[in-house]
Order: sequence, then C-alpha cells, then structure tokens
Amino acid sequence: MTREAKPVIHQCECDICRTGADAEIARHHHQMNLFLSRLSESQRRWHLGLISQKPGSPSDRELSKITGVDEKTIRKGRHELEAGLVELSYDRQRREGGGRPPAEKKTRR
Ligand SMILES: [Zn+2]
Repeated sequence: MTREAKPVIHQCECDICRTGADAEIARHHHQMNLFLSRLSESQRRWHLGLISQKPGSPSDRELSKITGVDEKTIRKGRHELEAGLVELSYDRQRREGGGRPPAEKKTRR
C-alpha cells in the first residue's frame, strides 16, 4: 500500500479550542480532524453530512470551523447521502484508499 505524504490535520478554530475552555472537547475536535485527514475527499464530505444530521450536533457553520471543511461541502455531502449516493461510482470513490477490495456481500435476508 503506497502512502502519500502525511495528511495535514486541520487545527480546530472553534471558540472552545481557541480559548482552551474545555480540554475534552478540544481533544474530541482534534480526533475528528485526525480521522477526517485519513479519509478521501468524498468520504470526508459524507461523514460530515452524516454527523451534521445527528440530533444535538453542531451547525454546519460550527462544523466548518471545527473541520475546515466548507459549509457548502457539508451540505453537499448531506444531499448525496439523502440521494443514497447513487450517482457515484465505486471506482471513483475507491481510487484513493487502496485498502480492502469492495465488499461483495449484500445484506442477506
Ligand atoms: Zn474545537
């Protein structure tokens, strides 16, 4: 597996992290950004689209501050999820990862 240059981890810009008000939240935001730095662009988008819908989760604007991902991109990810990701080909999504082969298994009944 070839690894590209070390991904840049976004530094959270939310008020809590800037002021150091809550170490626990700051740690969580850092881990979010660490995680996001390992995803492909589309995976990042979908992940944020997903968590943006979770009850009690930060607003798009707040998520954008935390992750450095544009609000528009988060919205786009949400829309793609709502549409079932149908228009996206597996090949394009998988190009960057190079991990496991696509799961052939479908959920069985
Ligand atoms: Zn933060």
